[in-house]
Amino acid sequence: MKELDEKIRSCALCRLCEGRTNAVPGSGKTDNPKIVFIGEGPGRNEDLQGKPFVGRGGKLLDELLQSADMQREQVYITNIVKCRPPKNRKPKPDETKICASNYLETQLELLKPKLICTLGATALEYFTGEKKMETNHGKIFQAGKSGIPLLATYHPASVFRNPKLKKLLEDDLKRIPSLIEESTETA
Ligand code: URA
Repeated sequence: MKELDEKIRSCALCRLCEGRTNAVPGSGKTDNPKIVFIGEGPGRNEDLQGKPFVGRGGKLLDELLQSADMQREQVYITNIVKCRPPKNRKPKPDETKICASNYLETQLELLKPKLICTLGATALEYFTGEKKMETNHGKIFQAGKSGIPLLATYHPASVFRNPKLKKLLEDDLKRIPSLIEESTETA
């Protein structure tokens, strides 16, 4: 995992490397984490610190994790793309494809989580082709070839645009401990 992180930090496979301060491989438990959270891509604070979800959205994510009986140190958190897109725009399809096929897929092979939780539409679309959060949040999918169960939920930042989403996000995340248990039993 450390070697992979180094590769990510020096990656120049797509144009996103041009504007980065730091690439953001991911953070958290790397030794058998039961769950991996996947967001879209680093924002300004993440780019500056080289760590995922450290800004306002990250604070909210920490709060939501706690209310679902999880701590950041027990989970692994990463993104679809590892470098900040200019002005926080959505990653382009070629950037997503290059980054996720080279790095995210390998991270998942190494981490072997029991459950993946996608945060927001970019991560959901990468794994399932689905784009709508309203109709897909709370649903369970299979993550591509890996077959790992995947829980779709909103991106924490979406709560800042629509505070009503907080309760939906919270309710989705609270299901995680029992979903992990189910996934462990059937493995
Ligand atoms: N938004 C994301 O999708 N990922 C981060 O790491 C921070 C904000």
